Amino acid sequence: MNRTVASIKTAQPNSVGDGFIGLNAFHPQNSRPYNPFLLLDHHGPMAVPPSERPKGVDQHPHRGFETVTIVYEGALEHRDSAGNHGKLFAGDVQWMTAASGIIHEEKHEWEFSRRGGRLDFVQLWVNLPAKYKMIPPRYQDIASSRIPSSTLPSGGILRVIAGELADLTGPAYTFSPVVLADLTLTAGQTETLTIPTNYTAFVYGLGGSAQLNGELLERGQLALTNADGDTLTLSATTDAKLLILAGETIREPLAAYGPFVMNTREEIMEAFADFQNGKMGVL
Ligand code: MN
Repeated sequence: MNRTVASIKTAQPNSVGDGFIGLNAFHPQNSRPYNPFLLLDHHGPMAVPPSERPKGVDQHPHRGFETVTIVYEGALEHRDSAGNHGKLFAGDVQWMTAASGIIHEEKHEWEFSRRGGRLDFVQLWVNLPAKYKMIPPRYQDIASSRIPSSTLPSGGILRVIAGELADLTGPAYTFSPVVLADLTLTAGQTETLTIPTNYTAFVYGLGGSAQLNGELLERGQLALTNADGDTLTLSATTDAKLLILAGETIREPLAAYGPFVMNTREEIMEAFADFQNGKMGVL
């Protein structure tokens, strides 16, 4: 049975650092309906003018959750205090577990910056259960070639990054049950996907427009479903690209401030002190 649509929300203009312009669909302070997800930013598609100095976000800390970056066009480069350095090109995903603390910078990839071009990517923040918030940081660089994809019955193309969907299993390791996938549809195609009834489930419009269980969803909009069924039926009204997000709710208190997401206010203050005292490392 199809889930009913609880709400359709339009993402708001948002820019981060000096090189990422786009939309924010939700952030930790209004993330409750999307639990276990904490934030969804969609940067682009934007035209990046050529620059000898790669733009983006200079070094900053995170603690208590994971950042997930999916590149659709252009290229990004990442460096962090745990010694990780990665480049992401179209189709690639980076799944960074900040956990006890990390300092990173997120920039346009050097060669892409010199050349300029179109950039389109998504960044998600995924919460960690309390028992994993203070584990050592980890980093998963997931090349597009490792992400399974399949052509669904009516011709849509599904890529599964995390969790299980339509008989595909995503390569990302997660600390609580999460499903993350993207679906590319041609105008007129309709696909039905099965998601566990107890999961939070929502769909973000990356491009074009589609109907989700009968409700219109356009680019830059987020459709949250009720936990009253186990299927999502997506019907493309134009060629469309959709991000599908689902997961088990983490039933723990949330204390979020800036780049830190913990369970209590004391833990947030401790995060600021640890960052200032260099306990999250040096980039
Ligand atoms: Mn960051």
